[in-house]
Amino acid sequence: GFKCGIVGLPNVGKSTLFNALTQTAAAQAANYPFCTIEPNVGEVAVPDQRLDALAGIAKSAQIIPTRLTFVDIAGLVRGASKGEGLGNQFLAHIREVDAIAYVLRCFEDDDITHVEGKIDPLSDAETVETELMIADLESLEKRVVNLEKRARGGDKESKEQLDLVNCVLPLLRDGKPARLAKISDDERAAFEALNLLTSKPVLYVANVDEGSAATGNAYSERVEARAREEGAVAVVISAKIESEIATLPPEERAEYLDALGLHETGLDRLINAGYGLLGLVTYFTVGPKEARAWTIEKGTRAPQAAGVIHTDFEKGFIRSETIAYADYVALKGEAGAKEAGKMRLEGKDYVVADGDVLHFRFAN
Ligand code: GDP
Repeated sequence: GFKCGIVGLPNVGKSTLFNALTQTAAAQAANYPFCTIEPNVGEVAVPDQRLDALAGIAKSAQIIPTRLTFVDIAGLVRGASKGEGLGNQFLAHIREVDAIAYVLRCFEDDDITHVEGKIDPLSDAETVETELMIADLESLEKRVVNLEKRARGGDKESKEQLDLVNCVLPLLRDGKPARLAKISDDERAAFEALNLLTSKPVLYVANVDEGSAATGNAYSERVEARAREEGAVAVVISAKIESEIATLPPEERAEYLDALGLHETGLDRLINAGYGLLGLVTYFTVGPKEARAWTIEKGTRAPQAAGVIHTDFEKGFIRSETIAYADYVALKGEAGAKEAGKMRLEGKDYVVADGDVLHFRFAN
């Protein structure tokens, strides 16, 4: 599955946020046949009202949302790239995630020590990212000599990688993350193969005080401004409030949110932002037994999408009966969509669209 790492300096609210995420997931666990929760790894449901609507139309007995994995990666301190704190272990954990959520402290509380001595979310973001940039810089500098040697020897792949490295190194030396490098579609795969820490997409989580959950505050505004400049995503959240919401029975949540002036939980926004950040889309399988959401990367073709359900579906793929979400709802289900000519038969080159309701035909 797809993984999003929660990263930040100590005492910024990472664990509070992570626990709120997984507590919510645990409360919903009855619906989850495969929900596994480890101390610092949690699978959370991706909230999607479309799935409920589809299940309502098909009178599905069970609703199974798709999931996203969050990993609480503790241990980042200034000097992590030099082995301080949990150092290398910490960096190894980051290497394994697909995207990074930087939790930034945007709340004041004299009782809770700030490791840098003052509240300054942008400076914290830089402290954290600097450690990752140093690690990337050192790892690339180590590789350059070897790549140059092999490129001179006529190895094409090494030459390609070397060109990329030479485009990323000046950025890193200039204190900029590798994700800001201009990479063409052709180079994308090789770029990802470099497996850098700062090439992963990032999401800023501005953790504000309880009173600013709905409005944000001066600190979170700075975080949002920075995200806009970078074309990144920022989510304003109060981890404290989220942990309170997580303990409420589901039927009381809406009322509590209303009272706070919020429309959805910060966790829902965070999960959806993570989903968008990872470039993921959802398709559905719908029937009387269950309505289920499945996650694929944007651009995935029908056979590979079927493979997410079962490898046999991919191997024996024949075609996919396809109904767009809007048609399924407007025509009140499969029969209506079929009658109106809105069920398409798509072949192996079809790129699955977000919201497609699919039924795969395959041979064994
Ligand atoms: P971590 O070290 O980043 O995992 O931080 P924790 O989640 O353990 O939080 C550190 C301390 O800050 C704890 O005492 C939390 O209760 C507190 N904290 C976290 N979020 C908030 C918040 O939004 N407001 C306030 N006032 N305290 C918070």
